[in-house]
Order: sequence, then C-alpha cells, then structure tokens
Amino acid sequence: MKNLLACVAIIFCIIPAFAQQSKVAIAIHGGAGTILRENMTEEREADYRAKLDEALKAGHEILEAGGSSLDAVVAAIQIMEESPLFNAGKGAVFTNDGKNELDAAIMDGKTRNAGTVAGISTVKSPVAAARLVMENSPHVMMIGPGAEQFVREQGLESVDPSYFYTDSRFQQLEKIRNTENQQLDHDGDQRSDETKSDEGERQGYLDEYFPDRKFGTVGAVALDHDGNLAAATSTGGMTNKRYGRVGDVPIIGAGTYADNATAAISATGHGEYFIRSVVAHDISAIMKYQNKSVQEATNTVVKDKLVEMGGGGGVIAIDGAGNIAMPFNTKGMYRGYVNTEGDVYIGIYEDEQP
Ligand code: ASP
Repeated sequence: MKNLLACVAIIFCIIPAFAQQSKVAIAIHGGAGTILRENMTEEREADYRAKLDEALKAGHEILEAGGSSLDAVVAAIQIMEESPLFNAGKGAVFTNDGKNELDAAIMDGKTRNAGTVAGISTVKSPVAAARLVMENSPHVMMIGPGAEQFVREQGLESVDPSYFYTDSRFQQLEKIRNTENQQLDHDGDQRSDETKSDEGERQGYLDEYFPDRKFGTVGAVALDHDGNLAAATSTGGMTNKRYGRVGDVPIIGAGTYADNATAAISATGHGEYFIRSVVAHDISAIMKYQNKSVQEATNTVVKDKLVEMGGGGGVIAIDGAGNIAMPFNTKGMYRGYVNTEGDVYIGIYEDEQP
C-alpha cells in the first residue's frame, strides 16, 4: 500500500513538476543569406557555432533559473552584439558616409508592450536601449541623438562610435561605396533553389540594385516558466545604406513581434520587403485568425509571400507551447534553439535540418 501511495505521489507531484520545469525554450538567429559550405573555412564555421551556442546557453540558463523571457532574449542578443561575427553592435555594417547606425527592438508577449531604437551610434547595447524605451518611457520608438540621450540618462553604457568599427566591415563598404548598391550581410544570391520564383523581372531588379545581398542581423525569441513570450532583434542594417535609412528591425510588426496568444517572432532579411509585408505581425495574424500552427504560418509568409514579392531572408518564431519554427528562403541562416525537451540544435546551412 505504501509503495502504491509513493507511486501515486510521484505521478501527481514530481512528474508534473518536471514537466513544468522543462517548459522553457529559446531560439536565436544570426542572419540569413548565401551561407555556403564552400565559402566557409572550418575555423570560421567553428567560431559561428561556438558563438551561437554561447548565446543560446546564456538565454537558456536564465530561463531555467526561472528568469523572464525578456531577460533571456536580451542576454542572448548581447552576446551576439559583442561579437564582430554578426551585423549588430560591434561588427555592424557601415552607412554610405562611413558610420554605424544601429537599430533594435524588443517586445513583451504578455503585455504587448514594445520598445525600439533606430539610427543610434553611441550605445554599446542597442537591444538594452530598446528595452529601456519599452520599460522606462511612455514611447515605443526613439531615434538618433534623442534616443541616445534618453538611454544615457537612464545609465546605459555609452561608447565612442569607433567601438563599432571592424576592418572587415569597412572593407565591405569600400568595395561598393561609390555605387548606388546597398548590401546586406551574408554573401551572394540569397534565395535557395527551392524557393526561387520565376519572376525574372524582380530578380533582375534585385541583381541590379543588390548584387551581393547579405543579411546579418541577430535575434532571439523565448518562452519562460510563466508562459510568457518575448522577441528581440538587433542590427546594423545594410552596408552602404543611406544615412538615416531605417530597416524592418525596429518597426514593430515587421521585423519583431510578440503576443502570448500567438507567437514571438524575430526576422532577418531585406528590410524593405519585410516592412512592406509586415512579416512578423502577418505570422501572428495567420495564427490568430486562420488558426494555423507557428510552422504553417511562418512557412506561408517566408516561403510563399516573401518569395513572391522578392524578399530574401528568414524568421525564428516560438509559440506559447514552445513549438519552434525557423524557416528561411535563402541558402542558409545562422540559427539555433534549445527546445522544451532541452534538446540543443545549431544550424547554418540549408540542408542542416533538426
Ligand atoms: N533586416 C535588416 C535590415 O534590413 C538586415 C538584416 O537582416 O541583416 O536592416
């Protein structure tokens, strides 16, 4: 009888407690584009995998310790902002006039509160700046010197703009500076064969204006113990962008969105298309109004709608049950997750499916 009672206690108390504890998950991206094995050295690939792993672990440890999804996405992104491997924070791409202008966003799925910054050049962690706008101001979006002043007054670390300088990014600018081309962050033609549309005209336009399309933004989405979702994204934008250009990242609903009722979403890709397609909110709306899964909704937007329009890139998304989707229509996307089972996955290329 005692044994029976013990078994019942295990089934009703301990097992649900474990199930409760494992209900956290996080996914990250470090940009999408033509990321091909043949263009990658073993060393560089190992560097990317190690940094993605470090970012994932930083976020996941917070979640496991009972921390919030907001804290987790910020921690994961800050690791990538501090790494010159990614086009965010240190290592951000240059504008046409040789500066780094950074954009970032964060959104809380529980309250649907959001904060974003655009065109900032002196704040070490743009994602932390976005969070301050969300939590300590009545606004959603702040730009340029006004945003910088606000977050400085809030005690956030400022840096000289030269902090963001890296030689490799400057060389990228020098190559195309005197052209009208803008360039995103990972090499070459970004669309996979599978998803290439037959829109010759569109392709011609893209080839003419963006011959070397690259995307290197970083993002994170997470589900915490309380069932709350959060999304955040941080970027330097596009090489040779006109000063003052703002991409999709700090536009809530375009590059970043979170709603506990649907999903948390962070995007990377050709910002102008992501703005015009309102990508992140469209995914949420498809889930809400058409009752589709996070996988179905992200596939529809990334592999159908964006491809039809000519917009290369991808998204990461997580729903309230911890289901993760990370489709992209490019050759590769730096990406990874720790799911609700605690399984860790890191991928770079198109053929590396979990
Ligand atoms: N979406 C970003 C932008 O257009 C670029 C990127 O994803 O790398 O600013």
